[in-house]
Amino acid sequence: MVKDTKLYDLLGVAPGADENQIKKAYRKSALKYHPDKNSSEEAAEKFKQITSAYEILSDSQKRDVYDQFGEEGLSGQGGGGPGGFGGFGEDLFSQFFGGGGSSRPRGPQKGRDIKHEIPATLEQLFKGRTAKLALNKQLICKSCEGRGGKEGSVKKCTGCNGQGIKFVTRQMGPMIQRFQVECDSCQGAGETIDPKGRCKVCSGKKVVNERKVLEVNIEPGMRDGQKITFQGEADQAPGVIPGDVVFVVSEQPHPVFKRDGNDLHYEAEIDLLSAVAGGQFAVKHVSGEYLKVDIVPGEVISPGLIKVLEGKGMPIPKYGGYGNLLVKFSIKFPPSHFTDDESLKKLEAVLPPRNIPKIPAGAEVEECVLSDYDSNKHGARAGANGRGQSYDSDDEDGHQGAEGVQCASQ
Ligand SMILES: [Zn+2]
Ligand SMILES: [Zn+2]
Repeated sequence: MVKDTKLYDLLGVAPGADENQIKKAYRKSALKYHPDKNSSEEAAEKFKQITSAYEILSDSQKRDVYDQFGEEGLSGQGGGGPGGFGGFGEDLFSQFFGGGGSSRPRGPQKGRDIKHEIPATLEQLFKGRTAKLALNKQLICKSCEGRGGKEGSVKKCTGCNGQGIKFVTRQMGPMIQRFQVECDSCQGAGETIDPKGRCKVCSGKKVVNERKVLEVNIEPGMRDGQKITFQGEADQAPGVIPGDVVFVVSEQPHPVFKRDGNDLHYEAEIDLLSAVAGGQFAVKHVSGEYLKVDIVPGEVISPGLIKVLEGKGMPIPKYGGYGNLLVKFSIKFPPSHFTDDESLKKLEAVLPPRNIPKIPAGAEVEECVLSDYDSNKHGARAGANGRGQSYDSDDEDGHQGAEGVQCASQ
């Protein structure tokens, strides 16, 4: 049995929790209440509390003392004692989150990647293309080799021992809390440069800007979202491994074709005569050439029919070859009164006979005539009826659901 569960409660774990559970619970709360995430005073107070709770519960010796004697048992060794409360918060947080919060990164870090979208039409993705793109990038100053000044003129800041930050200690009741602030002698740079020795090329900034042209090679068949990476081409900075420059292919919508992986989709509108008696149509392909396509007489193309031009899709990277071109047909019918009655009779002789529905003998029959459709007169929104119905049916759905439950329970 533990004397007091307060610290366990703070972390939201049971007194029997193991090391791992305590660690997880702390991590979760610390992320929530860290001053960087939540600037309220309440959160700051909470962060301090959970941090000192974790500091005790994660140390088996201290945890034993706390379990037996409660916080009073620990008060003797708190404060200034070795391994006591002082200076734990930030360091602990950094340890958890790898330089998270406001702490400085430790050791060489990888710089930020730079992403660029590179627009490409289907034509360009079909043939492939090399684009030359100019990039403004930061390079380590060659003149001072990234020091910022002549050798010996750049000194480590004595105010912060080169850290760029200082720790300020503050007493909060029984606990001593340490905070980070930017060093005021070097404005966070961690070093000072003697004005006489300051590098004239970069004015002490250690880096210079340079325009660099990259050749971006779009391979035939590349897809939307595919990345072309130039490793280490992003901004350089002292002590930082430069990030990558990443170009992301952005396929532009095509007015005629739609792409689906390696396949292309095309909608062909042909006339009625070609659809029933054969004919020809042409497609301007993304390769730049025209495809002349024959509709063989005898074959009937109905609206919505899909046929395939094999090997006329996009190039398939790595494996070689091409996808397919899928052609979906629509038929352009002739306008009303396109011909005279006599010619229609000829059609009657050629086309399959009319498919007239059979009405059972003796059934009630009404003769009807088709009118032209007018959206103002015949549209779904034309009458108040349509609108009213949609509200009603929403209401009814809920009602019906309730009834359904009732039925089931009976
Ligand atoms: Zn320089
Ligand atoms: Zn300093």
